[in-house]
Amino acid sequence: MSQEQFTRNLLQIKDQNIKNFRVSDKSRDALRIYADLSYNLSVCPRCGKHEIVKNGFKTVNIRIPNISERTALLILRKQRFLCKHCGHTKMAQTTVVEGQHQISRNVLHGITGSLTEDRTMASIASQYNVSTNTVSRQLAVLGKQTQPAYNGLPASLCIDEFRSTGNQMSFIAIDAQKHDLVTILPGRKNKEIKEFFLNHYDLKNREKVTQIVMDFNSQYQSIIHAIFPNTVIIADNFHLVQMTLRSLNQTRVQVMKNFPKDTPEYRIFKYYWRLYLMSYEDLEKSKTQWFSHLKDHYTQEQLVSKGLSLSEVLTRTYFSAHDLVEAIRNRDYPAFIKALGEVENVSPQLLTTIKTFIHKKQFIKNMTTCSLSNGPIEGVNRKIKQIKRTAYGYRNWTNFHYRIQIEFNIRVQKRGPIRK
Ligand SMILES: [Zn+2]
Repeated sequence: MSQEQFTRNLLQIKDQNIKNFRVSDKSRDALRIYADLSYNLSVCPRCGKHEIVKNGFKTVNIRIPNISERTALLILRKQRFLCKHCGHTKMAQTTVVEGQHQISRNVLHGITGSLTEDRTMASIASQYNVSTNTVSRQLAVLGKQTQPAYNGLPASLCIDEFRSTGNQMSFIAIDAQKHDLVTILPGRKNKEIKEFFLNHYDLKNREKVTQIVMDFNSQYQSIIHAIFPNTVIIADNFHLVQMTLRSLNQTRVQVMKNFPKDTPEYRIFKYYWRLYLMSYEDLEKSKTQWFSHLKDHYTQEQLVSKGLSLSEVLTRTYFSAHDLVEAIRNRDYPAFIKALGEVENVSPQLLTTIKTFIHKKQFIKNMTTCSLSNGPIEGVNRKIKQIKRTAYGYRNWTNFHYRIQIEFNIRVQKRGPIRK
């Protein structure tokens, strides 16, 4: 291997037209690598005549990736060409850097890679010794490339909301099956959501959506059919379970408050709340354990039974709630209807939840005929939270949006070229 090729390999420069490498290590700040870019150009790109001559050099400074933690600059003398026929001038081109840019493709590539990681823009800028503006420009370039194509909608969508810039609530939609991000919108108002879908997707596209999973209490129900005429609404079963258990929990707290603090009756509710959220079948019935706040050994079943024996309403609420939860978890609609039918004298909290269930039981029925849930969106929301935390919050919606898109499109990029 020649010395030149060795240097090229070391600097990760693929362009064979860059030659005559010299390194200057005089200054304390940056490592300067001098080189020449030249090749023969025979045809004028403008007039097509073979009258091109070489016409001096122009020197440009290009930021290349750090070498052993030192900032590195490629000081490149670029060959200039002149067409004697038409007067056209041209500068030699290289794959190292784009046109007039001063930051090499390798550096930009590194920045791009870093943007897909959980890192702040400032830390990326400092690693590559560029300004945060450069990083944010790269973010915009990449953000635009990873913008979803508005030509297809999946058959099933999960929709929800999340806390975005400032304290604003924003809308999110993902593909319920592939978990790809479909869109995030700054606001969550029905008007905004409707306008977005009507402006970006034609009717034929929107008609493809046949299932939408959503939070039971969300306000979107009123606009969904105007946007997606063929869809059914599917209640998110996690949310249904959550609603039911929350009512049960509220009931426990209310019963607890009937007893003075520092009584065993109070403590049996106060400290062992988790056990009441377990179904009776799941409670340990033979092995005892030490309950330090009661200073005694019980089985889990004994403890819950002791608690339930203190309130009839709580007992009925406990069993009804767990029957409902089990039916919902198993997506068993007949069992759900049966559980509803057996509800009697339960707490007002559970009753409120049950009234909502009855009012929207079609959505629950739809849930029982498929396996979809908003579970995947929870994962997405967690990731978004992490992006926000790393950046100490984003004030700028566009940058925030780009970063989310980029982090979510990693999978797409790894599979192949970015979808345009
Ligand atoms: Zn020419």
